[in-house]
Amino acid sequence: MDQLLTLNNGVTMPAIGLGVFQSPPEETAAAVETALGLGYRHIDTAAGYGNEREVGEGIRRSGVDRDDVFIETKVWVSDYGRDETLHAFDKSATKLGVEHIDLLILHQPMPQHFERTVAAYEALEQLLTDGKVRAIGVSNFMPHHLTALRAETEVVPAVNQVELHPYFTQRAVQEADSSLGVLTQAWSPIGGITFYPGWGEERTSVLEDPTIREIAGAHGRTPAQVMLRWHIQQARSVIPKSTNPDRIAQNFDVHDFELAPDELVSIDDLDRGVRGGPDPDAVDPSSWDLEIPEA
Ligand code: NAP
Repeated sequence: MDQLLTLNNGVTMPAIGLGVFQSPPEETAAAVETALGLGYRHIDTAAGYGNEREVGEGIRRSGVDRDDVFIETKVWVSDYGRDETLHAFDKSATKLGVEHIDLLILHQPMPQHFERTVAAYEALEQLLTDGKVRAIGVSNFMPHHLTALRAETEVVPAVNQVELHPYFTQRAVQEADSSLGVLTQAWSPIGGITFYPGWGEERTSVLEDPTIREIAGAHGRTPAQVMLRWHIQQARSVIPKSTNPDRIAQNFDVHDFELAPDELVSIDDLDRGVRGGPDPDAVDPSSWDLEIPEA
């Protein structure tokens, strides 16, 4: 049984979700079905991942009641704008095969077109008022993006999903989130971006880190389990991705051990301050050639 986190609007969210970025559509339904069979009750997808349909199929195949699953998805930037984002909800809900979405978030800030980011967020606020989503949030927002958004909109985001692993702990983002009551959710929680196959030879995998390995050895656990435990003990949500049944199981089997305070500190101290993903201010995401098809 997973731990529940309470969002700033009172909605509860299971702390561990299954991530499906780069999960091929043909493997996604099976991964979701496996995860739900193991006890996961939270799935994180995105319109931009091209597998919302298969996420819905996996949920239906699992036999778990839809209302017992927390479904999180993201609006891609090509759908930012008030009407466009309202329509993005319809596209995602139809592909997922659901009436409502539990958590709908903006995938990226668009600092180069911030007025469209604001209009997209206002559409999320409308969807919340209309009961089509249970909570709304953002992703890859740095503290100054949160400040700019808060200046122009009403609802405090429930969640900010950002790159966060032992080599990139984003302390300033975590502090900004908690001062506003925004829950920090870690993407690449076990450092996937430090070792994705084909993303560059010079990357150093946090799975190989000697400190993490030593702590893992001391607890008879894997490096991935230690990292997930580190997040959970610091009250973050995690969405580890796997399409491998053994690793899906391993990533959920983190509720029966505890890291000591000095172990948490030594993992915090591994921070290198270097992001693996794109800098939200340096990259204009609308320059990426990605359009979200109709349902
Ligand atoms: P991650 O979950 O940290 O790592 C995934 C990688 O680790 C995959 O290559 C996976 O391969 C492998 N893996 C999984 N469990 C493992 C284990 N126990 N031991 C060793 N290797 C393991 O990285 P991520 O996919 O970047 O992040 C997770 C989720 O965050 C994504 O799926 C997505 O939902 C979300 N995300 C969001 C953004 C954003 O901009 N908002 C960006 C990136 C990711 P196998 O599948 O072969 O197990």
